[in-house]
Amino acid sequence: MHYVSTRNPDLRLSAAQAIVQGLSRDGGLFLPEEIPQIPLEEIKALSKLPYPERAVKIMKRYLDEFTEEELLGFAEKAYGASKFDDPKAAPVKDLGDGRYIMELWHGPTCAFKDMALQMLPYLLTASLKKTGEDKTVCILVATSGDTGKAALEGFRDVEHTKILVFYPDGGVSDIQKLQMVSQEGQNVGVCAVRGNFDDAQSGVKRIFSDPILREDLADKGYFLSSANSINWGRVLPQIVYYISAYCDLLESGKIALGDKIDFCVPTGNFGNILAGYYAKHMGLPVGTLVCASNANNVLTDFLSTGTYDRNRPFYQTASPSMDILISSNLERLLALMEGAGESVANYMNELAARGKYTVRPETAQKIAAEFACGFCDDEGTKQTIAKLFSEKGYLLDTHTAVAWNVAESYRAKVEAQNPLVVVSTASPFKFCQSVLEALGETKLASGTDIIAQLAEKTGKTAPAPLAGLAGKAVRFTDVTGKDEMESKVTEFLRA
Ligand SMILES: *Cc1c(COP(=O)(O)O)cnc(C)c1O
Repeated sequence: MHYVSTRNPDLRLSAAQAIVQGLSRDGGLFLPEEIPQIPLEEIKALSKLPYPERAVKIMKRYLDEFTEEELLGFAEKAYGASKFDDPKAAPVKDLGDGRYIMELWHGPTCAFKDMALQMLPYLLTASLKKTGEDKTVCILVATSGDTGKAALEGFRDVEHTKILVFYPDGGVSDIQKLQMVSQEGQNVGVCAVRGNFDDAQSGVKRIFSDPILREDLADKGYFLSSANSINWGRVLPQIVYYISAYCDLLESGKIALGDKIDFCVPTGNFGNILAGYYAKHMGLPVGTLVCASNANNVLTDFLSTGTYDRNRPFYQTASPSMDILISSNLERLLALMEGAGESVANYMNELAARGKYTVRPETAQKIAAEFACGFCDDEGTKQTIAKLFSEKGYLLDTHTAVAWNVAESYRAKVEAQNPLVVVSTASPFKFCQSVLEALGETKLASGTDIIAQLAEKTGKTAPAPLAGLAGKAVRFTDVTGKDEMESKVTEFLRA
């Protein structure tokens, strides 16, 4: 199977090449030329297997150059007991009335980014070998919080890799910051940037597109790569848990083989829900994919009108990992709808030039047939957390609460209701302050004490990686100007 650029179908690469490159040289994203199929009988067979084996059988269909044995080795390490505190890796909880929650935050950093970033280092280092690249790969990440920590944890002490994370100084939660600056490992670096997330992101993009620096690094034996969801190696492992959720419902007798289920996904960069779209088009019986946004509802507008318009106020919300106005993975959906090539390139050029584009009416109709959408502001998010906790004793984080709220509105509107799985993307203990406020707490403890406060208030146990933060030594205190990031990279690689 080959991979093509969303902007040019003649640019064809192998899976390993696409993973190594991350972003296509023409600015496009890579996507598989066709979507491999998985028959119902095989989904039934998968339901008897543990998560790592499900992952192998599904991912193998996209990765010709990898053997099943090789992939199983990766999956068992990525999703094993030393990394995930639940043997199912992505357990599905029954909340009654055909409503389920799939918890994707049992990994080492307590957010769903682990599902892909525990796997990506294995895929990337193996891909480097397969493509004959013998340099050390240097991963640069700009993060608004969750990706940075998950990438650090995924790549720590992985041979032939180094990873440097930039985060906006003062722009991440205290817990997110402490998670990053206390990161262990010999090959990791963390640096704050004076500026906001966009400054950090633009700085990283500038470094990537600097040919002189690239050459200089190549001379020193380094190769730059990305751990962002623009890399296909991030999207692929996410397809697995949609199919896995179906397997679990089947195995527990909640659905029969062939029954359709819906998913509701808290969405930012459109990577997670895109993986759900792939699962559906591989043959998984999925009815509707519900795209949930917070007050930054650019996707709600796009999915319901066909016009994408980022010219609007940017809100800092209680669900910060969804505070995004440019959803990069939407480009892959457009290529799936209209075919890779010029028309996608034109939309993206319009977006870059005017911050706005409108897709063809047929495309808008096709999209509306596949996706439902909705959004929920901070007030609704907090009410949802309080309501589900008091009614069911289930504690949501702010991102999942957005999705739960949107899912409930969606179900109230449709007549024939499929079972619906809400995709839960973070542990509530990652967003203690907002969750405690939602539960009516007005006096908040400071620093890491807030974790114990939430545990006490709710009777829930904090995940070990977060509970253990209190005693952690701070290793990284560097702060840099947004124009000096490049010299931080050189300095980091010299050390
Ligand atoms: C990254 C993230 C999201 C958004 O996921 P996308 O794939 O970017 O749409 C939602 N919730 C949490 C907690 C996240 O970390």
